[in-house]
Amino acid sequence: MKLTGREKTELFLEGVVTVILLLLLNLSIIVLINETLSTNPGLQDGIFIIKRSIVIGPNHYQIWSWENIFIAAMFVFDAAVVYWRLIRRYHQIELRHIINELHYIANGHLDHRIDFHLSGNTQTVVESINALVDSVIESIEEERAIEHSKDELITNVSHDLRTPLTSILGYLGLIQDKQYHSEEDLLKYTEIAYLKSKQMKSLVDNLFEYTKVQQTGTQLSYNRIDVDQMLEQLVASFELEANKHDLVVTADDNDSQLFIEADAEKLGRVFNNLIANAIKYGVGGKHIYLKATKKNDEEAVIEVINDGPKIPKESLNQIFERFYRVEGSRNKDTGGAGLGLAIAQSIVQLHGGYIDVTSDDEFTTFAIHIPITRNDQITNPQSHQLISKQGEKK
Ligand code: ADP
Repeated sequence: MKLTGREKTELFLEGVVTVILLLLLNLSIIVLINETLSTNPGLQDGIFIIKRSIVIGPNHYQIWSWENIFIAAMFVFDAAVVYWRLIRRYHQIELRHIINELHYIANGHLDHRIDFHLSGNTQTVVESINALVDSVIESIEEERAIEHSKDELITNVSHDLRTPLTSILGYLGLIQDKQYHSEEDLLKYTEIAYLKSKQMKSLVDNLFEYTKVQQTGTQLSYNRIDVDQMLEQLVASFELEANKHDLVVTADDNDSQLFIEADAEKLGRVFNNLIANAIKYGVGGKHIYLKATKKNDEEAVIEVINDGPKIPKESLNQIFERFYRVEGSRNKDTGGAGLGLAIAQSIVQLHGGYIDVTSDDEFTTFAIHIPITRNDQITNPQSHQLISKQGEKK
């Protein structure tokens, strides 16, 4: 810490005043003692006898000059008092510096930190203040990010609701004004209005699901799940829909039985979203494979693989963001709002796992890594988990 000229003068004056006061005190003590001794010859004799009887060391040195000892003791005492007063004043100055810095930060200079180094505990105080300011800034930024993300959510939802709603109102308006030429037209308009209403309902459902799984403290109701059986059920329930799109869904038979502890309903939602996507976006492909493997004693990996068009590399690390849709998907009549993968990811994370995606010219694979037993946690070994492993063979 750098002292200002004024503070140096303050310290100097403190020293001078203390020395003067101590000298006066010493002088008055000496005068008082002399006065007492001169008026009291008995006391003088007593001190003389004591002095003669005190011998120091093997050579029997005697103390003849008690005044010197007394003066030396007084000097040591004075030096200690001066030191103590100066240190006390210095600490006051340090404190004043810290308070000034705090005022400066409190006045809105939140990027400012106390950068001087002090001794002992005061330095700990400085470090704690800096850490406190850091954590305040962090929470302000988090708050801002949450606020921003809420605004974004509202904007996206309003946009995605307004588009089909405008269509519905338009077609219903045509019907109400009898602006149709045939019954065929009428049926076409009502069908479009119906489809758009379904699209709106699906968005509202997804949104409801998304906010539900995003809430802190979302509870899972765990069941013991036979993974092979679950995959067979999924194949059965998606068979018809997949066939309509010329796709065949198959589940890989696992030699050893694989059981996991998970929320069956929520996990079902994850696979519904992934398989529905594989059908929706796997245009031109022929297969959807469901595959389950046990990675080690703690982790099960369940994959949804399809051989449709490749997801562009630049989209892979954004694909799980809410409302994100790969360029072009929004315009296609696939009806999604970009929430399906965000919901799937949140559910898997609630279970302590993670999802990753890889996509190349041959296959697109969504792999769910999930702990086999509840309360376990799996960490993604790759920090950049969503990078495509181009050209990897399945
Ligand atoms: P939505 O389906 O509502 O658009 P999702 O979050 O489920 O939202 O998917 C986000 C985007 O990821 C989709 O718009 C689509 O472009 C892409 N996508 C998801 N799954 C696949 C897949 N199996 N193959 C190709 N693209 C996919």
